Amino acid sequence: MERPMSFRVFIKRQAWPLGLAVSLMASVQAQSDILMQNANLIIGDGSVLTNHDLLIEDGLIVDLGRNLSLPEAGLVVDLQGKWVMPALIDAHAHLGFQSRESWGAGNYDLENLTDNLEQYAYYGFGAVFSAGSDPAEIAQLLKAVVSRRKNLPEFLYAAGLAPPGQGPNNQFLEQTTLVEARTGFKVLHGVTEPKSARQTVTELARKGSEFIKIWVDDRGGSQTKLAPEIYWAVAQQAGQLGLKVFVHQQNAADMLDLITAGVDGFLHGRIGSAFTDDLVSRAARSDVFVIPNLGLGELRREAIGEDNFLVPFLSKALRESLSASATRQAQPEREAVDESELIAGFARIEAGGLDLVLGTDAGAVPGHPFGYTGHRELEIYVRLGMSPMDALLSATSLAAKHLGLDGLGLLKLGKQASLVILNSDPTSDIRSTRDIHSVYLNGQRINRRAIASRTP
Ligand SMILES: [Zn+2]
Repeated sequence: MERPMSFRVFIKRQAWPLGLAVSLMASVQAQSDILMQNANLIIGDGSVLTNHDLLIEDGLIVDLGRNLSLPEAGLVVDLQGKWVMPALIDAHAHLGFQSRESWGAGNYDLENLTDNLEQYAYYGFGAVFSAGSDPAEIAQLLKAVVSRRKNLPEFLYAAGLAPPGQGPNNQFLEQTTLVEARTGFKVLHGVTEPKSARQTVTELARKGSEFIKIWVDDRGGSQTKLAPEIYWAVAQQAGQLGLKVFVHQQNAADMLDLITAGVDGFLHGRIGSAFTDDLVSRAARSDVFVIPNLGLGELRREAIGEDNFLVPFLSKALRESLSASATRQAQPEREAVDESELIAGFARIEAGGLDLVLGTDAGAVPGHPFGYTGHRELEIYVRLGMSPMDALLSATSLAAKHLGLDGLGLLKLGKQASLVILNSDPTSDIRSTRDIHSVYLNGQRINRRAIASRTP
């Protein structure tokens, strides 16, 4: 068995000096002002400004209007016929385990975490939420890299809480346990009764966690389900300390009590027929969000290895494993009943004014790729009856609101200049989010070609 590394040894093995050097170089680079002209601006609140200019200074949006000019020297970019929207946000992912070649605990280090974020940047994402599978000590290092470099998506993470030795699906559980063994840091925080659960939340708040992820699922009888008195204690203590609690749960039947306990969002909302009008309105009134997480099931049955939008990130082996085979088909079969239940669920969510947020669970299982799956999830939303504009809201301002990302999700004065420029209009065809012209994070243009070129 591998012995846990000390913190110092772990840092040494992370190629940290190189990372630090790159970070410092990036931070001393003078940032020029940018005037983007004649674009169609998708604001992120449901409105569009046609033929408008957008002025960026020091990585922030400082003006929107017609016929703007640069106050001093800077870069002018003509975006006639292009569409500019806020950078996308994935509110449910698991970073570190998937690399460009393989999946598992052996990939989990600062270098791979950074590479995962670069893949998100390539696909136009400005923030990612990693849901309960990272040691806080390493997550904090990654946050430091992000805040120095400014050209990576924002990284948010949750501390994971479950009965001892449980939580993620059994395959993923094994890998998170291996990460704990390799790094000597805790990923999953075991809780057995309300009092110690409150203490654990207090301890996590002291260590800088802003989010708690809880698993309320018996995994088909193979695990212990987190008891109501424990999640009530967690939600109450987290609420008092200003931490948000996001839930993995398997059944709609558990959602009502969780809402009453005071949780903030569902990472696997079950929005089929058991997700009733009453449940929708109770969630909406409590300002709880729902991530339906639909691509996790269907894209894992689809031959996505043949999609040119994904190919830049597939090694030969990975491409073969994701291409048409006995388990992967060009068009996955969908049960007509499930499909109509989901369509009805989307209609109830819209009618009830409940916030639906984009999340993918990318990285939790092998071959569910970062960034790419977010675009596919948006297509699924529209297929199930959402308007393209509402789908865009789920991935921008609504996600930003529920993750507390005040600088993202909207093209407005004072917001971060983190945006995606598209060659075609995503408000008429959601697949236009794939038609990327360029990506900017905090006013820096992302070198997408260089990021893709590192795939082995
Ligand atoms: Zn997950």
